[in-house]
Amino acid sequence: MRKQIAAANWKMNLTEQEGIDLISAIATDKSIELSDEQVAVFAVPFPYLSTIKKHTDAANNFFVAAQNCAAEKAGAYTGEVSAQMLQSIGIKYVVIGHSERREYYNETSNVLVKKIEVALQNNLTVIFCCGEPLQIREASTQNEHIANQLAEGLFNLTEEQLQNIVIAYEPIWAIGTGKTATSDEAQQMHAHIRATLAAKYGNDVANNTSILYGGSVKGTNAAEIFGKPDVDGGLVGGASLVATEFITIINSLKK
Ligand code: PEP
Repeated sequence: MRKQIAAANWKMNLTEQEGIDLISAIATDKSIELSDEQVAVFAVPFPYLSTIKKHTDAANNFFVAAQNCAAEKAGAYTGEVSAQMLQSIGIKYVVIGHSERREYYNETSNVLVKKIEVALQNNLTVIFCCGEPLQIREASTQNEHIANQLAEGLFNLTEEQLQNIVIAYEPIWAIGTGKTATSDEAQQMHAHIRATLAAKYGNDVANNTSILYGGSVKGTNAAEIFGKPDVDGGLVGGASLVATEFITIINSLKK
């Protein structure tokens, strides 16, 4: 059965102490009771990975993620952080292909393929982001756009490797804009993603892959979006920086 996942993306926000205060408030909140099939993931800045991990270790089904990793395995790549380094400190998840990385750091599908390969070699679960810009949505070609991103980024993987991939559909026009896809728009795209996976890998693989929605998810809209049959939780930026908001979002996961 596929997992329901509430993933926080802190991006380049918070001091270490602010991060500790935030994670402590969430990890000790008594209203959160995650079942075996539900997971909370916190994608935090590199310098805080170990510290935040310590604050999540006692909480059931809480995991820490990196927001990125290097495409190369090791060596003379000043400033980079390898997948092996992440594994060596007990990190289980990594976000790859976020639209901000694609846009501001020119991460092409070729680079993403290399990152995914090293991440999987180091037993990390990859949260692979895809999503269309506004002009593609306005031209109604979002289905083709997303199918291309999936094919370019993931379809070199084996069926077994795909079990360690979570897909996050994040329409770029909805990220950090306060504009959310309607729950029906999210469901339509998630169903399309699942059908695209099924055509390539078969129904079992498609039905076992978690597909998250991202784009201005908040405490007030999470339950409706996550309630859709093909939406398996969310990847959340802004609202994940506020403890009460993210607690509501975690508690909106489907049982
Ligand atoms: C994100 O950056 O992954 C995201 C979805 O951000 P926000 O929730 O702020 O739109």
